Amino acid sequence: MSRALELVQNYKKISETVAQTCLKYGKTSVNVLAVSKYKPASDIKLLYDSELHLHHFGENYVQELVEKSQELPKDIKWHFIGSLQGNKVKELATKVENLYSVEAIDSQSKLKKLNNYRNNLDKVRIYLQINTSEEAQKSGIIYSNKELVLETINFIKNECDNLIFTGLMTIGSIELSKSSGENIDFKRLEEIKQWLEDTQGIKPVELSMGMSSDYEEAIRQGTNTIRIGTNIFGARRLKDGN
Ligand SMILES: *Cc1c(COP(=O)(O)O)cnc(C)c1O
Repeated sequence: MSRALELVQNYKKISETVAQTCLKYGKTSVNVLAVSKYKPASDIKLLYDSELHLHHFGENYVQELVEKSQELPKDIKWHFIGSLQGNKVKELATKVENLYSVEAIDSQSKLKKLNNYRNNLDKVRIYLQINTSEEAQKSGIIYSNKELVLETINFIKNECDNLIFTGLMTIGSIELSKSSGENIDFKRLEEIKQWLEDTQGIKPVELSMGMSSDYEEAIRQGTNTIRIGTNIFGARRLKDGN
């Protein structure tokens, strides 16, 4: 089978499962973001050129994204979903002109930098990363610190003209993603969304949660976007693990 056909079939298969899962749980629709980290630019181009005309792709590493974005069509909408180091913000903001969203940011200083470097460029959608599993190695605002979440959202809304607050994202613990039943990480993210919408008047708050191993549960628990790598592109090399 050609690589193009394989990728298209994988994407169609997951889209079908997503549609069925939405039906099953009474959800309207869920976005599937294709996560292409470690995969060649040619894979992205095949999906872009296919009957699916995919335009949205997620990447985790600034250097890799810069290279791919320079090689690939300029109307691709790039989502940066990796953890963003302060010293990489400038490169991301200025070299990836068609940057569509940043999904894993958690501090006002990085937001401020990103905002400044996007002057005269298209606005970037922001998903705040929330650390729902309280794992020390994970970034994100700790889920129990709702006031800081609110403060950070207000900072984006009031002081970052080039950014658009869009929602919340979590990665969650690997163990939970492998077990069945209600996922506590997803529940915690959903609870913050409800709190923001119902008591703070911040709405809509979109959710980005769920990956190849746990997206059905994420859909049941109310996500708007799932981020799928392995199920579309196949296994990645082991080094990175996520
Ligand atoms: C790699 C990655 C994904 C995709 O993971 P799969 O399990 O391959 O679907 C989603 N979100 C983030 C933040 C990632 O780093």
